[in-house]
Amino acid sequence: MAVEPKESLFARVVELRRAIHRRPELGFEEQETAALVERELDALGVEHRRLATTGVAGIVRGEKPGRVVALRADMDALPITERTGLPFASEVDGKMHACGHDAHTAMLLGAARVLAGASATLCGTVVLIFQPAEEGPGGAQPMIEQGVLDEPKVEAIAMLHVDVRLDAGSVGITPGPVNASADEFYLTVRGKGGHGAYPHTAVDAVPAAAAMVLALQNIAARETDPLASIVVTIGTIAGGYRNNVIADVVEMSGTLRAFDPVLRDGLEKRVGRIVDGVAEAYGVRAELRVLRGYPPVVNDDALAENFARFLRERTTVHVERMMPTMGGEDFAYFAQRVPGLQIRLGIRNEREGAVHSGHSPAFRIDENALPIGIETLVAFASGFGSGGFGG
Ligand code: MN
Repeated sequence: MAVEPKESLFARVVELRRAIHRRPELGFEEQETAALVERELDALGVEHRRLATTGVAGIVRGEKPGRVVALRADMDALPITERTGLPFASEVDGKMHACGHDAHTAMLLGAARVLAGASATLCGTVVLIFQPAEEGPGGAQPMIEQGVLDEPKVEAIAMLHVDVRLDAGSVGITPGPVNASADEFYLTVRGKGGHGAYPHTAVDAVPAAAAMVLALQNIAARETDPLASIVVTIGTIAGGYRNNVIADVVEMSGTLRAFDPVLRDGLEKRVGRIVDGVAEAYGVRAELRVLRGYPPVVNDDALAENFARFLRERTTVHVERMMPTMGGEDFAYFAQRVPGLQIRLGIRNEREGAVHSGHSPAFRIDENALPIGIETLVAFASGFGSGGFGG
């Protein structure tokens, strides 16, 4: 349904992606990025509004009757110093688009360009959601609370996420859970300080903390069905003052992940039970704080199966079924409200060095994936709008 030559669309989207890549912004600071999105939507004649500080929602109204569908891109970058050596690398020290959100935003603008250009034949309405703060603290929830799915009432939603597991040229579509819940925990172990030569006069927090780290591995290794998936990771551990001083305090933090809501709820209790037991055994005190993060992302089964078939039959896009990942995504909140589909976009290219996973300072993508992403988004919006496939 593209009304302009594919080459000029591709050139424009690459230009937009690189412009966003040069100027990475962290969650809820995406002022420049949001302004770029708004300028591009203005140029396309697409109406839009601001939500959730730096979020933008555009609306393309098809002239033919049909359903309301939403496409979502995230816009925020990460606090990472870029080490790719690319000519369009980050110009902001300590910030980098290392998770492909620059590509997500540019592809959604590309899809907006195609859809707006074809509005005379487009069935239904497409809501374009440019979301802030996916990497935290989360922009999906405030956008939903401010009505992004309500006016007009969205009936299905899709998003793309770049994926280094897949070669550029392919997309991955998987029914059911595709991303895990992501909860944080903070653990403080308190003993009693003293001289390193007289351990019997102190209560050493270090061995107690070490025992907790090892004992917590038992949750995944021995307490959980091997066919279920959970993660217990301790990401930080810090304590002590110098070689001959017994540490009175050790602080740890970690992440708890699961696909299944019941397992997720159970994780918090299991960590608490183990930590309390070890604390008792070692004579220390343990303080555990769990902060609930994003829920699991669950793709709508029918939407996934039907759209995968639609893509195979109507386009040249190569569709694969993917393994889910234990990554977290606040698209989960959208998919809790309306049938949702997270589509993985292959960006791997060994020759171009596009082999590093997201959140790596060397992360890069094969830009030849961009037109495939746009074609996929446009197919989802126009196909769902016209009833070409259902959910
Ligand atoms: Mn991401």
